[in-house]
Amino acid sequence: MNNPNSSSKPYKKRSSYGTSRKSAMKKSFSQEQVCFSGPVSSDPVVGIVGGGMSGLVCALYLEKRGIRSTVFDTGLHGLGGRMGTRVIDPESLIFDHAAQFFTVSDPRFAELVEFWMKEGIVQEWQGTIGELEAGGHFKPLPSCPPRYIGVNGMRPLAESILSQTQLVNVVRPCWVSTLEAFNGMWHLSEKGKHCGQFDAVVIAHNGKCANRLLASSGLPLIARQMKRLGLSSIWALLAAFRDPLPIPTTGITLPFEGAFVKGVESISWMSDNSKKLLSSHGNGPHCWTFLSTAAFGKQNKVPQESIPNATAEKVKEAMLAGVECALGIPKSSLQKPTFTRLQLWGAALPTNSPNVPCIFDPHGRAGICGDWLLGSSMEAAALSGMALADQIADYFQNGWMRPDEFAVGLGSEFQPLKGHDIGQFPGLQSEEQVNDAQAIQLIL
Ligand SMILES: Cc1cc2nc3c(=O)[nH]c(=O)nc-3n(C[C@H](O)[C@H](O)[C@H](O)COP(=O)(O)OP(=O)(O)OC[C@H]3O[C@@H](n4cnc5c(N)ncnc54)[C@H](O)[C@@H]3O)c2cc1C
Repeated sequence: MNNPNSSSKPYKKRSSYGTSRKSAMKKSFSQEQVCFSGPVSSDPVVGIVGGGMSGLVCALYLEKRGIRSTVFDTGLHGLGGRMGTRVIDPESLIFDHAAQFFTVSDPRFAELVEFWMKEGIVQEWQGTIGELEAGGHFKPLPSCPPRYIGVNGMRPLAESILSQTQLVNVVRPCWVSTLEAFNGMWHLSEKGKHCGQFDAVVIAHNGKCANRLLASSGLPLIARQMKRLGLSSIWALLAAFRDPLPIPTTGITLPFEGAFVKGVESISWMSDNSKKLLSSHGNGPHCWTFLSTAAFGKQNKVPQESIPNATAEKVKEAMLAGVECALGIPKSSLQKPTFTRLQLWGAALPTNSPNVPCIFDPHGRAGICGDWLLGSSMEAAALSGMALADQIADYFQNGWMRPDEFAVGLGSEFQPLKGHDIGQFPGLQSEEQVNDAQAIQLIL
């Protein structure tokens, strides 16, 4: 390979995109490190592979530092990744089918959310949410901290993040399948089709795809960290009903709009999108999102691209039975949905984390951002995107000098992550958890 500005030996053989996960893993151990040593462009451009929260915020914060970027994303329906919203026409059904809402604990994220609120793309979710024990026992969660949602769902929020940027180019749908370092630049391509060359590259996605992409990229340290990540699987059942569901109330609150379900094998979360997103209190349709537990996702795991019909039927039945159990209504008494769609999030939530804001390999001029570096939430993803943008900008501004001072997270150990099956909601605690925490403080 002609490679005057980066010192890496030619790879023996490039893996094809269809390489199995196991062989991709083996290759990630044997590949040699790319080391860029050439001069830096005065107007650098960064290639960002992944247009979820972390990749989009990374692009936004690179722009704040005057750095151009191109975001590549596979999304057929739009940007956003796990901030997905489905609108089904002509019935105008609407469902957030992954991220449901978020809380804010970090001042940098708070600043961003405040800006989105002023722009009218985020709003506080005022509806009641709480915990629903099997049998229909509902306990509301305290209204503090505030919960936030995208005004028209999560995907429009993702689409709006870059709406006022000047230095960000978006390419979608595009599945970056190869990263190659030569002539002092990163060259990205989609199944042999060249997608552009970049001074630095950001991997803003995770799981099987990222492991394959990194397996022969010349970034063994980054590939090793990515490979350590564990991910859960979650089934999402979107269902529309003609009539309202029989929601239990506590007598002091309105019927809930969202609930973490406890003690039901197949369901960990349920929420009424019609109330959450459309404030619709009248006649149907009533659009509900039901998300499975991680344990149920694991038990019923199949390839998410080709779900066998028999599995889909079995999972749908088990989840609707789980809804009956959660609501405490007799078996088979739930009204038949007028519409259903089932999806498996095969790489849903991280189960462990290195607990670093981002990973950056200055020799390879490559980094990783994503929720899993700090936790399992939209906030964690945004903070990670910001951190990597700053790290890259600082290194650029230092003229790519003293690379070792800019390395982050390449050897960090992973710790298991705690949280709900659908992620973490910093600051959100039940009355009992608040009381327990206060009791512990008193003892100390
Ligand atoms: C079922 C479910 C429920 C959740 N609920 C909540 C919640 O209520 N609150 C909360 O805070 N968090 C929730 N989360 C977590 C939250 O969605 C994530 O933490 C966050 O959206 C992650 O953003 P990200 O940028 O790290 O990754 P992603 O959103 O996964 O973005 C990665 C993007 O990269 C793209 N991509 C992948 N490979 C390539 C490639 N080769 N080329 C180009 N593009 C590529 C993908 O298509 C995707 O768009 C939930 C997640 C799931 C799955």
